Amino acid sequence: MSKVRTDPNLPPATIDGLMCRNTISVGWRGEVYDCDFNQQLGMQWQSPDESGLFLWDVDPNKIDNREIMTGDHCFGCTAGAGSSCGGAIVA
Ligand code: SF4
Repeated sequence: MSKVRTDPNLPPATIDGLMCRNTISVGWRGEVYDCDFNQQLGMQWQSPDESGLFLWDVDPNKIDNREIMTGDHCFGCTAGAGSSCGGAIVA
């Protein structure tokens, strides 16, 4: 895991539009993810004992600045400035 906002390999101009910066994704059983991509990849939020977190486990007052779960798919997402993947990079 790494923080999207501190990863020097991600294009900084696209970071503000990322879903993981201001929204969560919730599965039909209540599992919590940083974004829809992470949900599709099964990257569920984890508690310190590494069990999966559900919506009812999360205190909204304590999730600011939490570590975002990232992976190789984030390079494609950030190139499109978020989950719409619209090719938003401007030269
Ligand atoms: S795919 Fe990665 S960069 Fe994109 S919203 Fe999800 S966690 Fe953030």
